[in-house]
Amino acid sequence: MAKLKIHYYPDKVLARRAEPVTVFGPELEKLSKDMLETMEAHEGVGLAAPQVGVSKRLLVLHEPDGETMCLVNPVIEESEGREYGEEGCLSLPQMYARVARATHIKVRAQDVLGTPFEFEAFDFLARIIQHECDHLEGVVFPDRLDVFTREEVLEQYEIVRRRLTKGARQRV
Ligand code: ZN
Repeated sequence: MAKLKIHYYPDKVLARRAEPVTVFGPELEKLSKDMLETMEAHEGVGLAAPQVGVSKRLLVLHEPDGETMCLVNPVIEESEGREYGEEGCLSLPQMYARVARATHIKVRAQDVLGTPFEFEAFDFLARIIQHECDHLEGVVFPDRLDVFTREEVLEQYEIVRRRLTKGARQRV
């Protein structure tokens, strides 16, 4: 079982702008499969490479009613509409907040072999992609909140994080 370690906020890798992927092929395919397994194991719907400590422009996702996708060097070319919806993040366990996102986006990306493709995404799928693309820019969802909600979420998160760290120590 090739499960990767999730990096938690405020790990520095989450605040860094990820590098473009320039090498395609089996290694990238393996990383994307490991990321998918890791995401499924944590019951996530999306995971970006920086969240597993790899500062590369790569993300995987699995919309509950849709198929699994892997996007390499994704670019959101156009976005329309705006809607608030609840979001969480595997790098900020147990934190949720309502975040405003575009409801319709056009995306350009490559697959693990470097083949370019384009598609449109709506609603929840569009939300997942915007959240994961933010990770590639070093942005996490609390950064998208108003300052008061952000403070509240990060305060709560501190409590959760202390508990997580303590748990990890006890397991050693
Ligand atoms: Zn996230």
